[in-house]
Amino acid sequence: MLIKKIGIDLGTANTLVYLPNKGVVVNEPTVVAISIEDNRILAVGNQAKEMLGRTPETIVASRPMKDGVIADYRVTEAMLRYFVGKVLGSWRFFRPDVMVSVPAGITSTERRAVIEATVKAGAKTAYVIKEPVLAAIGAGIPINEPGGHMIIDIGGGTSEMAVISLGGIVSWASVRVGGDKIDQAISEFIRKRYNLAIGERTAEKIKMKLGSALPREDDLVLKIQGRDLVAGLPKFIEISGNEICEAISEQLTEITQAIKNVLQETPPELVADIMDKGIILSGGGSLLNNLDELFAQAIGVPCRLAKEPLLCVAKGAGLALEHLSIYKRSIMSKK
Ligand code: ADP
Ligand code: MG
Repeated sequence: MLIKKIGIDLGTANTLVYLPNKGVVVNEPTVVAISIEDNRILAVGNQAKEMLGRTPETIVASRPMKDGVIADYRVTEAMLRYFVGKVLGSWRFFRPDVMVSVPAGITSTERRAVIEATVKAGAKTAYVIKEPVLAAIGAGIPINEPGGHMIIDIGGGTSEMAVISLGGIVSWASVRVGGDKIDQAISEFIRKRYNLAIGERTAEKIKMKLGSALPREDDLVLKIQGRDLVAGLPKFIEISGNEICEAISEQLTEITQAIKNVLQETPPELVADIMDKGIILSGGGSLLNNLDELFAQAIGVPCRLAKEPLLCVAKGAGLALEHLSIYKRSIMSKK
């Protein structure tokens, strides 16, 4: 198949590639394995993630989008090349148009660097749109209306909240708290309360199975395994959902506070629209149980999850490319 348009969501946790008419065709962790000796890129995506934590000292597995900013351009370009190459397959000689999501707080220099990296990676024309705008498009929000819409995207490294009207961002914030910090808070809590060390993946599993943003009456319990910090040996403990809720409350408060700050900076007419239409949540972190309910209670505005929250930004990138003229107001730059 001749591929003419590719949408890419370069997330802190996962990179997704979206093709109009086909949907999400690649979904791999945003991880790159680099050899320390000669600074060579050894693997990208799934293969690199396998190496995380298991690599010899001469290989580092790096997350180039850590904290929502592009930490390393060479690595970003290698990633883009890998993902573009993967979907093009043997059609590599044909250059597609590529839309890449960028953090809302990106500087103009960073923006140019992303465009350049995308062209070097094989794009005929490279476009960038800010991530919250793409999340809103992917969530089906009519962003070009004059009314205000609020989207909160909770990813692995960051949470971004933005008010959008007439295709542009009116007010926004980005906090470096997302799924990863929530996982860390869970392992910290378990280490302190039970003297038990657990791995990153276990903490994430606990969050997904047991985590809740609000205490639950029908509390759940999960048996987990870790390493006893005193004896140094494997040990099982039982932990409840409400303990996890307590463990992550500080991180959730930080996100809630950022949402409140953005609303305070938003013109009153737009706030009235948001009150009316409700806030939309996207990103993998929004799948935490009862998170929409916690925000609704704390902020006093109805909140609901977008359909397929993990896919919103990628879908938005694909849709924006398909309908360039509709979304031209949102495009920050192209080459
Ligand atoms: P990014 O855009 O930064 O790459 P994603 O939108 O892909 O991030 O979301 C990744 C985050 O979502 C991870 O921290 C992951 O643990 C979290 N996540 C995924 N599914 C769930 C779930 N069911 N409950 C809670 N968190 C989840
Ligand atoms: Mg994301």
